[in-house]
Amino acid sequence: MVSTTAIHFEEVAHRLGVLRERLFAAGGDRVKVVAVTKGFGSEIVTAALTAGIVDIGENFAQELLAKAEDLKIGDPSVVGKPRWHFVGQLQRNKVRKIAGLVHLWQSVDRPELASEIARHAPAAKVLVQVDIVGVPGKGRGGCHLPDTAWLVEHCTEAGLEVVGLMGVGVPGSPEDARLGFRKLASLGVELGVLELSMGMSGDLEVAVSEGATMVRVGTALFGPRRVL
Ligand SMILES: *Cc1c(COP(=O)(O)O)cnc(C)c1O
Repeated sequence: MVSTTAIHFEEVAHRLGVLRERLFAAGGDRVKVVAVTKGFGSEIVTAALTAGIVDIGENFAQELLAKAEDLKIGDPSVVGKPRWHFVGQLQRNKVRKIAGLVHLWQSVDRPELASEIARHAPAAKVLVQVDIVGVPGKGRGGCHLPDTAWLVEHCTEAGLEVVGLMGVGVPGSPEDARLGFRKLASLGVELGVLELSMGMSGDLEVAVSEGATMVRVGTALFGPRRVL
């Protein structure tokens, strides 16, 4: 019997090769790939780990918990453990449950959330998420751009380590996202933070050319997901 994990693994490994070529061609061969697995089960995380990806992104606390639990029981032949990145909009009351699992909180967008993370995961590494779209109803979360410095300061005062900024590009053609990425990069320089998590399957070349250090990729690695 062919296990579904084996099928996924070959597919993911192939797609990872294509992705790395895209990154290389865009000048981003040293850019970190965070594999976003929302909408898939723990077998896709196993496949990603087997393909050599360690940074795994999750959007939902419940999904993260379920996958982490599965992997604990899971296949002992899987090498390595995921480094979980939380990339979705997060309610404060979910922080405690996942605090022990998250390696990098990428979606810190308000002071109440920062304080709650600091309470349950003191000195945790975070990215402040910035709304780089700036059009009401069009953005995908993040603090109001002019509030970024203030939120970074709040995080630092709460004892968190702000290692960078995160932003979701405006949907549409990849070039449309460029201006937002450029704004995020210049904010990063201004605030003296090194990491820039920007770029997804559709717009990662543009993000890399604007200075992304990390891209968050779902579809290009795993194919279309269940609609969420
Ligand atoms: C789903 C998601 C991604 C990955 O998107 P793809 O277009 O599938 O690559 C990246 N970042 C965030 C915040 C997401 O929610």
